[in-house]
Amino acid sequence: MPGPGFEWIGKEEEQEVIDVIRASWLFRYGDEKNPQFKHKVVTLEEEVCEKFGIQHALAVTSGTSALLVALSALQIGPGDEVIVPGYTFIASMSSVIMARAIPILAEVDESLTLDPEDVEQKITPHTKAIMAVHMLGNPCNIDKLREIAKKHKLLLIEDAAQAFGGSYKGKRLGTLGDIGTYSFNIFKTINAGDGGMVVTNDAEVYKRAFGYHDQGHLPLRMGVEIGKRSIVGQNFRMNELTGAFTLAQFRKLDRILEQLHRIKARFKHQIQDIKGLEFRRINDVEGECATLLTVFLPDKQRADAVAEKLNTLTVAHSGWHVYNNMEQILGKMTITPEGCPFTCPYYKGEVEYKKGMLPQTDKLLERAINISVGVVDRGLGSAFGIHPHSSDDEIDQKAQEFRKVVQECL
Ligand SMILES: *Cc1c(COP(=O)(O)O)cnc(C)c1O
Repeated sequence: MPGPGFEWIGKEEEQEVIDVIRASWLFRYGDEKNPQFKHKVVTLEEEVCEKFGIQHALAVTSGTSALLVALSALQIGPGDEVIVPGYTFIASMSSVIMARAIPILAEVDESLTLDPEDVEQKITPHTKAIMAVHMLGNPCNIDKLREIAKKHKLLLIEDAAQAFGGSYKGKRLGTLGDIGTYSFNIFKTINAGDGGMVVTNDAEVYKRAFGYHDQGHLPLRMGVEIGKRSIVGQNFRMNELTGAFTLAQFRKLDRILEQLHRIKARFKHQIQDIKGLEFRRINDVEGECATLLTVFLPDKQRADAVAEKLNTLTVAHSGWHVYNNMEQILGKMTITPEGCPFTCPYYKGEVEYKKGMLPQTDKLLERAINISVGVVDRGLGSAFGIHPHSSDDEIDQKAQEFRKVVQECL
């Protein structure tokens, strides 16, 4: 079930956490001169900045709070539209709704990330941002999305919850737009049970992000700084135990990604000549996280047949990442001052979320099967596959099993 980082949990995590417990200071702020203060959260932020080549990193409590912080930092609010892919986790939509803005669903393409052409179709005078979700560890077509954002003066948010450590053309995912977000929940590349992070190169955006995450305080507060609090915010602070654990996981990132790439390549090599089988387009092969291998069968019938024999599900049927399965938003949501589920005085229109509204996405997902490499998860449709510590023999055996099933069904 869990993501790859889970498989690497060991003495290092234990050591980092014990360090904090022995010193007994669990709050992210403290006095530098106090030996009890181990500044794990700040160290994590600094090490991410250094490794990812980004100016500012802010640790928070989850990937969802990272998105809320990001939207607030970009001043996205009532009446604004944010373009979001129809294949993502609900947090991409719910965070926009919580920001009192409107998620506008767009199609994904063969990379299973935002289709730039459809994004451009969905732009209206209300559009404020594009949320590029690097789905299943696979980079979006950032060049194209950035070009569209620039042309239409839109902000680019990267939801890199599923792609921590991945890159696009040599730059880390999350650092390519106006702001990026990560999650450290148990299903992600590295995990601390729960946790998240926001990154940006913009000092003003960082300042607002920091304030929103901590009751309006300015970065690196040293106490309750009365008179200096800039905005009304919330509390999404990461604590030292989570910081310590995440830090130990973070230091294993290269090893984790290398291993995933190695085993994915070994598996893929053995199935890539199967006639009639196609692979998900990967916008940066070296930069993807390699947590999953997605294949397309020629049509829905054959995809269902293959999935059944592998005791898994096609992506279309696999649960909560497909907009068709998001009962939280399905049905008519009328965005008017009266009918809105939230107060939205600036927007008068109708937004309807309904099954089948993204036919291109539906067609792709009903032909798609996710094979696990690092995330064995029925909810992702990846009940079949290998895992990070599979031996070469196990990988080869799974590949042969897959070959056999596909050839029987094609
Ligand atoms: C997991 C995830 C999130 C939310 O992260 P949490 O830490 O679970 O709050 C947001 N977006 C995507 C695409 C995700 O997969």
